[in-house]
Amino acid sequence: MKKRNSATIPDIGRFADKGVALGDLATHFIVHCPKCGGKAQINPTKEPASTADFRLICPDCLHVETAGHWYGAATAHVSVKCRECYQPLSRSAPWNGGWKKLAMHCTHCGDNCEYEASISYGYFHESRITDPVFGLPLWLQKDFRSELLWAYNYEHLEMLREYIGAKLRERGIDPRNTIRKNSSMVSRLPMFIKKASHREELLKLIATMQ
Ligand SMILES: [Zn+2]
Ligand SMILES: [Zn+2]
Repeated sequence: MKKRNSATIPDIGRFADKGVALGDLATHFIVHCPKCGGKAQINPTKEPASTADFRLICPDCLHVETAGHWYGAATAHVSVKCRECYQPLSRSAPWNGGWKKLAMHCTHCGDNCEYEASISYGYFHESRITDPVFGLPLWLQKDFRSELLWAYNYEHLEMLREYIGAKLRERGIDPRNTIRKNSSMVSRLPMFIKKASHREELLKLIATMQ
């Protein structure tokens, strides 16, 4: 193949990583409605929004829900010293959204007691990627060769489409990009998305999602 210098490559088909982080794309989410399974939107109610400032609206069943209940995967952890003998105790268990205490048994002195647990929220539940506000399965996700192609919303999906579709991928072309180079969404994409041999199949898959 003839080597071309960059000046002869047309602009079409280029993808310049502007250093957009995944968090920057997490402005709103398209998910499965917890009531009817239809396509629901989670939007911020104010700017800047913390996780509590989002509301779900389902145009299919008209369900509206403010942030508060967690539907996704969560784990309760306790790591304490036994109240009787000060032996370190730790335990993790799946959390179902109810009481935030875990029953602990000390094998050293035999004491039984419940301790306050700290909860960590997962982003993967029942083999699906979930949103960070309610933990509901994202609407835009498809299986691809034992991996998952997913996006929070259509703008995120469009960015993936542009990236995958670009024959030439540039990094650091934008001068503002220098600091955030390694935290950009694109720099952290999994290998299956970056593989050129997957390009056509992935683009077809994205077209069905759009
Ligand atoms: Zn609904
Ligand atoms: Zn003990």
